Amino acid sequence: MTVPFVDLRPAHDEIRAELDAAWRDVTASNGYIGGPTVEAFEARWAAYCGRQHCVGVGNGTDAIEIALAAAGIGPGDEVIVPANTFIATVEAVITAGATPVLVDVDDETLLITADHIAAAITPRTAAVIVVHLFGQVVPMDAILELARERGIMVIEDAAQAHGARWRGRIAGSFGHVATFSFYPGKNLGAFGDGGALVTDDAALATRAREIGNHGTAATNRYQHHVLGRNSRLDALQAAVLSAKVDRLDAWNASRRVAAAQYDEALRGHASARPVGIAPETESAHHLYVVRVPGRARVREELDRLGIGTGIHYPTPCHLHPPYLEYAREALPVAEQASMEIVSLPMFAYITEAQVAEASAGLLQALESVRAASEDEAARLVTGRSL
Ligand SMILES: *Cc1c(COP(=O)(O)O)cnc(C)c1O
Repeated sequence: MTVPFVDLRPAHDEIRAELDAAWRDVTASNGYIGGPTVEAFEARWAAYCGRQHCVGVGNGTDAIEIALAAAGIGPGDEVIVPANTFIATVEAVITAGATPVLVDVDDETLLITADHIAAAITPRTAAVIVVHLFGQVVPMDAILELARERGIMVIEDAAQAHGARWRGRIAGSFGHVATFSFYPGKNLGAFGDGGALVTDDAALATRAREIGNHGTAATNRYQHHVLGRNSRLDALQAAVLSAKVDRLDAWNASRRVAAAQYDEALRGHASARPVGIAPETESAHHLYVVRVPGRARVREELDRLGIGTGIHYPTPCHLHPPYLEYAREALPVAEQASMEIVSLPMFAYITEAQVAEASAGLLQALESVRAASEDEAARLVTGRSL
């Protein structure tokens, strides 16, 4: 049996009729940009995240850039970002005109902590972007307290954490503003690109909506009173998201069952070390990430066995050419982890048999890589081929 890394089909099949109807309703109404379909989803997503306002935008990267701009963060401002994130988090800080300051992450969870932030604060620090990576939620208490004390804004990049919770509170409800991506493979995904930001700050929400709509004043569509751009959530995507959002908790629950099965299967195998999840976290398990020795060979072996894997991410942000200048020092935890991590198959309704196959495949791959390296070591010692 082959196991794909991601399969969107079982979740989509469950609500195929609703998805088809949603699409048909939009094409029948012929309202494609803005309008009631988009407003309905925005209201639903704000409520789901426990927030006053939601502004739909073109994608998750724009959501970060527009959140920063709407918060008045730009040239001359520093924004602290973990080096272990998808490149978009860093990219958006730069396109907003601010300067990212890349910091290391915790060795157990691979997430940013208050200590990493505290060490990077300067008089120019305007904000920190905490990234709820892999479906986890960054433990927020110490970070929120530090940010309050030092007067810096907290922005959550929740692109991988739709519906995740920490101490019962949902991802996206902690910071001044939180951003989401609805890229098809995310836990809540559209049928194309989409994104949103959520906040309780009415002025920030209004400004964000204006920026994403050519700087058009909320009160006068012919007045462009701030510099804007075009980044809007379209009605087809909003309709798909509304059709899906009621299933999100069930889909996340099925991911949690799969993650628990992986945990159990890998328990006691010291060479397979799942990335730890902070206490009191209900992860959305966007990804199931394991640290292994000999990662390249392990992946080759898994590929041979027909088990799809990914790496999130093979190079930490500060080691990509456009971003080299944004780390003040080596970031050893992120650098080491990037060489060891492998993401196993994970999606809503992955079956028990698929998880069993993938975890058995991983253990088999680790064993053959271990045996091969023992052979190599023996060859080196004896000076002859065995
Ligand atoms: C996917 C993702 C983004 C970017 O979202 P897009 O919709 O692809 O622009 C940003 N941050 C993180 C952590 C992501 O996983």
